[in-house]
Amino acid sequence: MANTLIELKCGHKLLVNLPDDIKIKAAIIQNYKNQLCPKCRRQKEQALQEAKKLRMDSIAKLCPPLVHQDKKIIKHAEKIRHDKLSGLDDMFDKLSRVHGFSSIQEEHTFNHYRNRTIARFCKQDDVLWWLNHQTSPIESMIDELKEKTFVIEGQVFHENDK
Ligand SMILES: [Zn+2]
Repeated sequence: MANTLIELKCGHKLLVNLPDDIKIKAAIIQNYKNQLCPKCRRQKEQALQEAKKLRMDSIAKLCPPLVHQDKKIIKHAEKIRHDKLSGLDDMFDKLSRVHGFSSIQEEHTFNHYRNRTIARFCKQDDVLWWLNHQTSPIESMIDELKEKTFVIEGQVFHENDK
C-alpha cells in the first residue's frame, strides 16, 4: 500500500492509499480520474437542482389550474400532472446532457420538440385523464397526446385542435 496523489476529473487532487498490485492500482486510478471531488460533486448537484427548479417553475406557468367540484380530486390530479411533467422534463434533460448537440439546428429542433411535448401535457385539462394515467409510462402518454394531422383538400387539420 502506498499513498498516491491522484488528479480527479475536476482538477482537484486526492490522496489515496493504493494497493501494490499494478493492475488493480491502474483500475482504481482510472476510476478516480473519471470522478469529481466531493465538493465539486455537491456543487454540480446543487446547480442541477437549481436548473431543474427553474425549468419546473416555467413549466408550471404553462399549466392552467384543473377544474373539478371536488378539491381533493383536483389536488390529486395536479400532483399526478406535476410528477409526470417532472419525469418528462428529466427525460429531455438527460437526453440533452448525455447526447449533446452536433449543431445549433439540432438543438433548435430538440427544443422545439421538447417545448411542444410539454405544452401538450399542460394543455390536457381533463382531471379524469390525469387520474387514469397515474401509472402510465411517460412514453405512452407522449404518444397518446401526439396530434394526429390529416389533410383534406390541401388543408391541414389537427385532430386534437379544439
Ligand atoms: Zn473538485
